[in-house]
Amino acid sequence: MSRLDEQGFNTRAIHAGQEPDPATGAVIPPVHLTTTYKQDGVGGLRGGYEYSRSGNPTRDALHEALASLEEGVRALAFASGLAAEDTLLRTVCRSGDHVVLGGDAYGGTFRLISRVLSEWGLEYTPVPLDDPDAVRAAMRPTTRAIWCETPSNPLLNITDIARTAEIAHEAGALLVVDNTFASPYLQRPLTLGADVVVHSTTKYLGGHSDVVGGALVTSDADLGERLAYNHNAMGAVASPFDSWLVLRSLKTLGVRVDRHCANAARIAEFLLDHPAVASVLYPGLPDHPGHAVAASQMSGFGGMVSFRLRDGEDAALKVCERTKLFTLAESLGGVESLIEHPGRMTHASAAGSPLEVPADLVRLSVGIEDVEDLLVDLEQALS
Ligand code: PLP
Repeated sequence: MSRLDEQGFNTRAIHAGQEPDPATGAVIPPVHLTTTYKQDGVGGLRGGYEYSRSGNPTRDALHEALASLEEGVRALAFASGLAAEDTLLRTVCRSGDHVVLGGDAYGGTFRLISRVLSEWGLEYTPVPLDDPDAVRAAMRPTTRAIWCETPSNPLLNITDIARTAEIAHEAGALLVVDNTFASPYLQRPLTLGADVVVHSTTKYLGGHSDVVGGALVTSDADLGERLAYNHNAMGAVASPFDSWLVLRSLKTLGVRVDRHCANAARIAEFLLDHPAVASVLYPGLPDHPGHAVAASQMSGFGGMVSFRLRDGEDAALKVCERTKLFTLAESLGGVESLIEHPGRMTHASAAGSPLEVPADLVRLSVGIEDVEDLLVDLEQALS
């Protein structure tokens, strides 16, 4: 067999960190539901484990799999995406430091920075990350990180990762990429110059809408050590069972995301031709402003499609309430299709801020059902 790091993505998704259990031969790694580990004499740790906040074999298996898929040197699994973000920001920033973030960052990320960490002295500037002059102008001597989501939630804007990494590094800052929407199957930011990848594993990595989790992956071993220290010291770790659920789901990430992409592309084309729709935001469409960059840094355009209604907010709310197969719910990335109104739901916390989203916007998380059924559902909801 070839070395693991030479194997393809799907092979690593199934095998990295997931060898059959040496004790029993179980093909699937066990869920190690234990808080603590017997010591053979004081300090005599078997396998290095002493307490499950500090280390757990199921969570370690997930760490290994995530590091392999993102092509990083260290991965850490957290209780949620926001817990991962909080640990990262409080590891790399001190009071008086500054972060540049996309003008359309996820509302929860914006809330964490603008409402929670700002109270501890973190400063921030939202900018359009697709405008390199604006990004350069926003950098300060105290800027520790550029925080980028590409594709972004919910406007599906695209940022050139390699170019933004250059701007960050010129200023001595880190480039953090939230890779939740693309997943490592479609895009591997660390290979393009990013320093840290953030995930809400709640989404495509978990894939079945049954686990809330987060992850950090880095290509910098020293930063990985500091993050691992705070992972334990701050304690926002993923539970063994949640780790196992994500690990189980990684095995099918590639086939799921292929289908998400194919269904989303059909739906974007359908919406483009629909008279009730004013515009469709999907990076796979040739006239999307970020199409060329997306095509160069992603191997597919993802399963998220947003669109704006000609008749404004009321029309957007009605579509959300009329669909039957698309369930009206927050979140994304599961096998089932979801619909939501970002302005009133996922991004309500950005209301009144520079990150407020348009009121006529609807966001779809396109699932892996038969696409003809999804099209029938959207047609009846739009008519
Ligand atoms: N990043 C993005 C792009 C998200 O969409 C979300 C949640 O929706 C998060 C981070 C936060 O993740 P979690 O909800 O797992 O805390």
